[in-house]
Amino acid sequence: MIPESVIQKVLNQIDPEGVIDLTARLVRCNSVWDPQAATSEAEAAGLAAQWARNRGFDVAVETVAPDRPNVIIRWIAGPGPRTLMFEGHTDVVTPGNLSRWRYDPFGAHIENGRMFGRGTNDTKGNLAAMLVAMAALKASGVPLAGSIVGGVLCDEEGMMAGVQDFIARGHADSVTAAVVCEPQDGLVCIAQKGAVRARFAVHGRMSHGAMPLSGLNPAPAVARIIDGLASLEAEAIETIGKNPLLGWPSFTPTVVQAPSQGPPQLNVVPGEAEILVDVRTLPDQNHDAIRKALSALVRQTVRDINQRYQETDRQMGIQRPWELDVTVQFLSDRPCTHTDRGDPVVSSAVWASRQVNGRDPEFAGVPGATDGTFLWALKDIPIVTMGAGDRQVPHQVDEWVDLDQLVDTARIYALTALHYLYPGDHP
Ligand SMILES: [Zn+2]
Repeated sequence: MIPESVIQKVLNQIDPEGVIDLTARLVRCNSVWDPQAATSEAEAAGLAAQWARNRGFDVAVETVAPDRPNVIIRWIAGPGPRTLMFEGHTDVVTPGNLSRWRYDPFGAHIENGRMFGRGTNDTKGNLAAMLVAMAALKASGVPLAGSIVGGVLCDEEGMMAGVQDFIARGHADSVTAAVVCEPQDGLVCIAQKGAVRARFAVHGRMSHGAMPLSGLNPAPAVARIIDGLASLEAEAIETIGKNPLLGWPSFTPTVVQAPSQGPPQLNVVPGEAEILVDVRTLPDQNHDAIRKALSALVRQTVRDINQRYQETDRQMGIQRPWELDVTVQFLSDRPCTHTDRGDPVVSSAVWASRQVNGRDPEFAGVPGATDGTFLWALKDIPIVTMGAGDRQVPHQVDEWVDLDQLVDTARIYALTALHYLYPGDHP
């Protein structure tokens, strides 16, 4: 049992204006990774580092790639075996077409209790909330047994180089649990879908549109692959079914392009075609089996389409001396994660949510991968993903966050750490 007076001591340190002000300052740093426009995470990272230094934290700024720093904030709160990590990323995705935005995407405009701007929701608001939560615990002077690490990381929206660098440098070695600060609308997310991404390349032969017999069109193979992906998806839906936290598995062709490169032209049969496929998986699916199925689809497609071309050739009494070829290349593989409901970090998150909201939170799953995926997969760290912000809003125009929910999120983060690190509640 944590005395009410201790809880209040921590909550009293959370100044709503402080959360809102830090969010606004982070949003005003354009941290889209865009070397041509010379924007990166550096300015937002510098701001977070200075903010934490001013509050007496031990802060390290580490270069992951040129202009792309991680900020590591450490605080040994007291002797104890546990280390809780808060993770939040500094990068944001592009605002896209600026004329579609009602307000400046980097203006942090506030209206009717909402702040608008790129990153307000994903995830600078939650990043500010985690920093304020860490500072509140520190300033409260309540006794804690263990340490807190803040990972203010770059490149979450890209290849997740920031968290991989964090792990490679050994920062995760002592971490016993992590709170991944992402917009989950107050839900406590304990599972994440996995992903297998692949590129199919179809190699035919370019020709004049009026003389298709002097080439070999990749289009029938493209159709065959898309059809095969639909069959694999139907099979997974049938055999794996719906996961209560994560929903359905999916095999989605996201990019279908012919020619693979250069401008398309109506009277030119393209020589090459490309299909990118984004497979999202559930814990019951085996990634090796999925890779094998995608490779089998390549072999089937080559066999079926070449056979069909040979039949057509026979019909016309010709014999084209070329064969169509298909290759598949695997681009990334991210496992599913699943943290046990009984894990101490989950109990702490549930307890904290109940303290702040007056009711038990709902459990849910995250449809995409996050930096937490790497912490879970490479370091066996139990993770919960939670934070303020509507779950549909990330990456949209007019991105926004509800400021009351954001301030409550800072309170929930602080109490999660209080509960997880409170002396005597665990051996
Ligand atoms: Zn995010």
